[in-house]
Amino acid sequence: MTASASCFQIVDPAFAAYVLHNAPLKKLAEGFDWVEGPVWFGDHQCLLFSDIPNDRILRWSEAGLSTFRAPSNYANGHTRDRQGRLISCEHGTRRVTRTEWDGSVTVIADSYRGRRLNSPNDVVVSRDGAIWFTDPHYGIVSDYEGYKAEAELPCQVYRVDPDGTIEAVITDMACPNGLAFSPDESRLYVADTGRAFQDDPRHILAFDMGTGRPGRGSLFHRIDPGAADGIRVDDEGNLWSSAGDGVHCLAPDGHLMGKVLVPEGVSNLCFGGRAKHRLFITATTGVYSVVLNRKGAQWP
Ligand code: MG
Repeated sequence: MTASASCFQIVDPAFAAYVLHNAPLKKLAEGFDWVEGPVWFGDHQCLLFSDIPNDRILRWSEAGLSTFRAPSNYANGHTRDRQGRLISCEHGTRRVTRTEWDGSVTVIADSYRGRRLNSPNDVVVSRDGAIWFTDPHYGIVSDYEGYKAEAELPCQVYRVDPDGTIEAVITDMACPNGLAFSPDESRLYVADTGRAFQDDPRHILAFDMGTGRPGRGSLFHRIDPGAADGIRVDDEGNLWSSAGDGVHCLAPDGHLMGKVLVPEGVSNLCFGGRAKHRLFITATTGVYSVVLNRKGAQWP
């Protein structure tokens, strides 16, 4: 385990209250090819995350690192539903699944109107139990052996009702990727890593949820450097986004508050730990954590 004592960059002075200045960025594990999809299991005090090119889900705890599932069908993003069950996006099988209490796997979605999904990327569960996921084409245009395929659907955001009904709820994004609700679920944030705006894959859009479905999206923030992939919200409504130089904290009005600087490009993040104020970060070849003075809002 390595540690660095100066991982915070304050942009807005108010950010100073969001961090613990002596808290080090800790490298928890390393040696992966592309890590993604961190999800915290407080009941087991462990973190699950995907090592996508190596087709496995790994389990980290203070006791060490182990394999949770291999092969993982090239799993990417994960979350937990309102019963605490693992919800996973799988590139290889082009589906979203739920792992039941007995360890069996249930398919939540693998098609829409008779056409196969592209490669579900990231997922979140709202209070009503609906499962919301993004479906860009990365998993079928990349060169993972045997999985290259023609897209049958545009890159969209879907909602799966608890009764199983699937609905395309955002249809005009280029490559929807990470997604997160504001604490009161009045707003849905979605990162677009495609080139929808000014031929630039760096945007986070905000969608008003007044009708219970996303309304028209508006530009929330342009990440620089890098792109926004995974995003999470804290209990005061700040949005924490992956970026090329670490994790960026964005206020609810979209302005940059400050950064957690990470020595590798960040793909995704989640809140966890005993007080829900430890930020876990998947960053290219390594997994990191840092303790903040803010707590995660988002389930789980
Ligand atoms: Mg992603």
